[in-house]
Order: sequence, then structure tokens, then C-alpha cells
Amino acid sequence: MAQEDQIPPEPPFGRSRASERRVAGAEVSRRRVNEAIDRGGRSDAPRVFMCECGRVGWNTTLTLGLGEYDNVRTSFERFLVAPGHDVHLIHDVLERHGSHDVVARRGAERPEADGVA
Ligand SMILES: [Zn+2]
Repeated sequence: MAQEDQIPPEPPFGRSRASERRVAGAEVSRRRVNEAIDRGGRSDAPRVFMCECGRVGWNTTLTLGLGEYDNVRTSFERFLVAPGHDVHLIHDVLERHGSHDVVARRGAERPEADGVA
């Protein structure tokens, strides 16, 4: 279900470590909720997941089939977000599916690449 009309302008995310930590903490807490949802039954019926973009105060939900969510969660670095919810300074968009996007934390796949300009 399209939710573009609910997406406010992107707040100013800094590249500071404090800001990134705050986003990362929110991502992980949303992910815990989604993992509980994912485990919450065996039915293949679509269920409601939370956007994992990490924006504090945003509680966008996404309706996905379990198979779709499993496809998002093929590695720890991959996060489920609503279309347009990627944080440009922090995320790389890996896949766009129309109803949801898959993002990765930038640099997550190359942890030694610190200090990239
Ligand atoms: Zn979001």
C-alpha cells in the first residue's frame, strides 16, 4: 500500500557519531519488533511490519507477506523501510519493491573503510 502522502520531509541527519548511534538504536529496536511479528504465526497471510528506517517518532507500518520479509532479512545489514524512508547519509538503497525498500547501512559491508571522504 502506498504511503507517500504520509512521508514528511527528511529531517536533517548529521553524520555525527551520536546521530548515527541514535538511528542505529532505533533500527535495532524496530527490528526486534519485526522479528517478533515474523515469529508470530505460521500463516502466509500478509502481516504488518514496522519501518526500520530509524527515524525517531516515525511509526510507519508496512504490510508484507512473510516470504517478502524473509527476503529482506537475508543478512544482518539489510533493513526494511518504507519507500523514501532511506536516510541518504547513512543508508544505501539495495532494492526497491514499490511497497517497500531494502537498505543497508552505508559501509556496513566494509567495516574497515573508515574515513571515506
Ligand atoms: Zn521509516
